Amino acid sequence: MRAPTRLVIKIIGYSPDTSAVSVSEDGMELNENADIDTSQVEDQRGSGGGGGGFGGLPIPGGGGLVGIIITVVLALVGGYFGVNQLGGDSGSSTGDNTNITQECADKTTARTKLDCRNVLYVNSIQAFWTEAEPEYFGKQYQPAKTVLFSNRVSTGCGAADSGVGPFYCPADDRVYIDLTFYQVLAKQLGAPGEFAQPYVLAHEYGHHIQDLLGTEAKMRAAQKGGSEAEQNLQSVKLELQADCYAGVWAHHATETKSKSGQPIFKSLTDSDIQEGLDTAKQIGDDTLQKQSGGTVNPAEFTHGTSADRQKWFKAGFDSGDPAKSCDTFADGSVVQGD
Ligand SMILES: [Zn+2]
Repeated sequence: MRAPTRLVIKIIGYSPDTSAVSVSEDGMELNENADIDTSQVEDQRGSGGGGGGFGGLPIPGGGGLVGIIITVVLALVGGYFGVNQLGGDSGSSTGDNTNITQECADKTTARTKLDCRNVLYVNSIQAFWTEAEPEYFGKQYQPAKTVLFSNRVSTGCGAADSGVGPFYCPADDRVYIDLTFYQVLAKQLGAPGEFAQPYVLAHEYGHHIQDLLGTEAKMRAAQKGGSEAEQNLQSVKLELQADCYAGVWAHHATETKSKSGQPIFKSLTDSDIQEGLDTAKQIGDDTLQKQSGGTVNPAEFTHGTSADRQKWFKAGFDSGDPAKSCDTFADGSVVQGD
């Protein structure tokens, strides 16, 4: 099984402060009465990786470097790794949710906390698919946990460090994210809007849906024997479909409810959707290739162009129907070099 083509971008001088994410005043509002279900995440930030922050990140080449070099792989937003594609040790560490559960139980402060907000996004996305997968695809949804980690993590798909960006691992049915990735997105990749966060998570859960529906297995079969460009095109179709599923979730986000039946969002606005589209634009393959100083090479696209990522997110958002509007595999408009 081949690994997806990856383009490596070096980011120099990254510091994990939280000031870069912009919270727009007319943006989404989370319901302060919605209970936050932390059982849907696994907090591994306290374990492994050499402690908090980025202090434990290995710095390639050793001393003499100002700042920290982070390798961001083009699997960004979001990766999809097959079994053993990451290399290193497979296996799962266990987390400890004591702190995050305590923190997110405090209704007066939970919504100001990055991690608690992200748990709520996960709650909303899974609440949506719990109803939508049977409705649109006639299949039962199987919940998937999101693992919060810092620096490094061991997964069913191999070991990974933060530089690979958020990803979904079909081998253990989990989404993995180091929340400091949002700073990379905001500062280095030019997508500072807060709605980038649920968009990223909804994209990764889109991969989980593809896993549950067998789409990923079909895609791998279609890749077999094809040229590298043809294999990459299959990957693009998978990724654009995950973007479309993210848009579908956004369409329904304000209908989603917490465990106790409270709406999770008070409001979601045009400016949020615009931030979603802006994010999709900033993480298109052509934009990332340009940003990394390389020439644009369509044959190496694995996630789709900026235009296509925006187009499919919007297609999902506009229709709200994942069965009708997200078949990127049947859609003739997704072609190599598009
Ligand atoms: Zn993806």
